[in-house]
Amino acid sequence: MARIIAICNAKGGVGKTTTAINTCAYLAALGKYVLLVDMDSQANATIGLGVKMDDSYKNIYHALIDDHNPSLLIRKTSIFGFDIMPSAPNLAGATVELVTMQERENRLKKTLDSVRTSYDYILIDCPPSLGLLTVNALAAAESVLIPIQCEYYALEGLGQLMHTIELVRQGVNPDLQVLGVVLTMYDKRNQLAHQVVNEVMKNFPGRVFEAMIPRTVSLAEAPSFGKTILQFDPGSRAARAYRQLAEEILKLS
Ligand code: ATP
Ligand code: MG
Repeated sequence: MARIIAICNAKGGVGKTTTAINTCAYLAALGKYVLLVDMDSQANATIGLGVKMDDSYKNIYHALIDDHNPSLLIRKTSIFGFDIMPSAPNLAGATVELVTMQERENRLKKTLDSVRTSYDYILIDCPPSLGLLTVNALAAAESVLIPIQCEYYALEGLGQLMHTIELVRQGVNPDLQVLGVVLTMYDKRNQLAHQVVNEVMKNFPGRVFEAMIPRTVSLAEAPSFGKTILQFDPGSRAARAYRQLAEEILKLS
C-alpha cells in the first residue's frame, strides 16, 4: 500500500516540480515502485518527463471530474518503476467544476484508492495555490513535503499553507502530517541562503531534511530533454542531493 506524499508550497517556482520528478526518480532507483501525480494544469512534471500528451490521451482531469478509470491514464516514464498520472491544461477547469461536486475535497483520494496497492510511494506535485486541487492533494496524502527556496521572502505564504493543512486536518484528513521541509536552490556562496536555512530551521525544528538541493543549471536543463537528473547528470551534486533526499524519505516511512 503506497505512502502518499503531497509536495506543496503555494509560492510559485520554489522547486516543487523539480523535487517531485527527481525524488521519484531516486525512489525508483532505490527499488521502489513510484507514481507521480501531476496536479498542476501547467503540466510541468508531465512535460518535463518527456511524456507526450495529445487529445487521444486522457489525463488526471478525466479521473477527477468524469470518473475515468485512473489505471487507464497512468503512463510509464523512461525509468523502470516510475509511472506518472499526467496532467494537461484542461485541469485548470477542474478548479471551477469541482466546486459544485459532491465530496469535492475527496475526488483525488477516491481516484488514488484503486491504484494505491500497485505502488510503494505516490508523490503529488501540487500547483502554486491553495485552491481545491491542492486541498484534494492534502486530503489524499498522509504527509506533506514542503520545498522552500533559499531566497528572500522564502517563508512568505508558509503561514497560510500551515493554516490550510490545519483546516484539512480538522475536516477531511485528521492524520495529515508534515513530513518535512527541503531547502532548494541553495547556494553556499550566498550569505542570504545561510540566513534562510537558519530561519527555516527555527520555524521547523527537527523537520528540515539534511539533503539540501543546490542551485545548478543541470536541474533546470534536464526537463527540456525530458530527463531527470538521474539520467541527465548522475554524478552531479544535485543528483547526490536528490538521492540523499530519497534515502531520508525511505528512512522516515
Ligand atoms: P510552480 O509553482 O510554477 O509549479 P515549482 O515550485 O514547481 O513552480 P519548479 O518548476 O520545480 O518550481 O522550479 C522553478 C524553476 O526553477 C524551473 O525553471 C526549474 O527548472 C528551476 N529550478 C528548480 N530547482 C532548481 C535548482 N535547484 N537549481 C536551479 N534551477 C532550479
Ligand atoms: Mg510546479
